[in-house]
Amino acid sequence: MSGIFGVINRAGIDEGTATTAYYGIFSLQHRGQEAAGIAINNNGTFLVHKRDGMVADIFDEVTLNALGGTCAVAHSRGSDGIIGPDGIQPVVIKSRVGNIALSCDSVILNAEQIREDLKNQGAIFQTSTDTELILSLLSRNRVVTDTTEEALMKTMKELKGVYAMVIMTDDKLIAIRDPYGLRPLALGKRGNEWMVASENCSFDALNAEFVRDLEPGEILSITKDEMSSIFYNEEISQEERIKNGKVCIFEYVYVARPDSVIDGTNVFKSRYEAGKALAKLHPCECDLVIGAPDSGNAAALGFADGLGVTYGMGLLKNRYVGRTFIKSTQEQRELAVRMKFAVLKEAVKGKRIAIVDDSLVRGTTTKHIIRFLKDNGAAEVHVRLASPEVKFPCCYGVNASSDKDLPATRMTVEEIGEMIGADSLGYISLECLKEALGGLICDTCSACFDGNYIAGKVE
Ligand code: SF4
Ligand code: MG
Repeated sequence: MSGIFGVINRAGIDEGTATTAYYGIFSLQHRGQEAAGIAINNNGTFLVHKRDGMVADIFDEVTLNALGGTCAVAHSRGSDGIIGPDGIQPVVIKSRVGNIALSCDSVILNAEQIREDLKNQGAIFQTSTDTELILSLLSRNRVVTDTTEEALMKTMKELKGVYAMVIMTDDKLIAIRDPYGLRPLALGKRGNEWMVASENCSFDALNAEFVRDLEPGEILSITKDEMSSIFYNEEISQEERIKNGKVCIFEYVYVARPDSVIDGTNVFKSRYEAGKALAKLHPCECDLVIGAPDSGNAAALGFADGLGVTYGMGLLKNRYVGRTFIKSTQEQRELAVRMKFAVLKEAVKGKRIAIVDDSLVRGTTTKHIIRFLKDNGAAEVHVRLASPEVKFPCCYGVNASSDKDLPATRMTVEEIGEMIGADSLGYISLECLKEALGGLICDTCSACFDGNYIAGKVE
């Protein structure tokens, strides 16, 4: 997964465009923090600065000032299996019709097929990334169409998969949300600057206003003089298009920042409500409710309110954990958990603890946390999960897990509870989780819980 951001100054002046892009991706690093970059249009010259590391380490004031310009696209990249600098975005190319820069967060399911077809037509590739593939397809399609938007539409018809993209051409900023609307993408505005971002938490950080979410299948283009959209699913009404959207339900469970609002639903509130629903579904006798930091906190608060039990702190997360070494032995794995979390002994000693987490994928961390809490004096540890059993691998790049890693595919809830050493274990149901997303204006993908792969699988 990754965070994408784009900005265009519609007065055509540089009011710190690069700095806007910087703060834009800075606040999207929870979606990916392995590498980052900004590409900017400086009077027709496309400049790009990107490398691996955290956003704050990649850019400084001097670099940002040197990246003067009036339009920019930016990217903060998650681990995507592509080794080395190849996968760092944005990628800038020169096509027959001018410069194009692309930042995308994508999983293209028919990438191999398209790559082979393009190679057979003489195309060459330097990387195995979707970004290069999409740009290659786009520049080929651009030769036979009148506008970039038409070329993009043709490209979208050829791509099978899920994506959000921001594209910069010599005179435009273009944003695209895939026809399923699986990845979120929002439009915002601050004075002359119009921006698009993976999540609207970027706009809050920039003191910009949230305008709206992009519609599934929307190609939005913004120039100095105009703003217009065309739609992949143009044969259906706007209402239908939005209603049929299938945003990834894991955005609400874990991925998105709690202060974001996606497709009409506030992420924090949905987590809180999921916790409340869990209290009804699987109540337990306990003295203290704690969250598995930090992603379980909102649901833990809802669970505590639902039960009428105190919500408090029991575990602290060390924010300064960098890359951990390969954890091959049991001892090393336990050490890694102790590096990442600290138990507040005084708070948990002698207490029956209910710990609420967003999800349980493999269960290894949860198992160590339970041991850790008990070693520090907790009398009982009950685990509650604010998402259902993860039974299917995600093929859309959100959950990194394969079938055989998922305990829920081969074990009952009781068996999983035993494996992790919990005194009891309870999952929210998919129905209740969906109910917790009150106000959601579209449907969701929930394939990792129900196996219904809305965009198909890898070809
Ligand atoms: Fe999101 Fe799960 Fe669908 Fe993957 S399978 S996109 S994690 S809901
Ligand atoms: Mg967690």
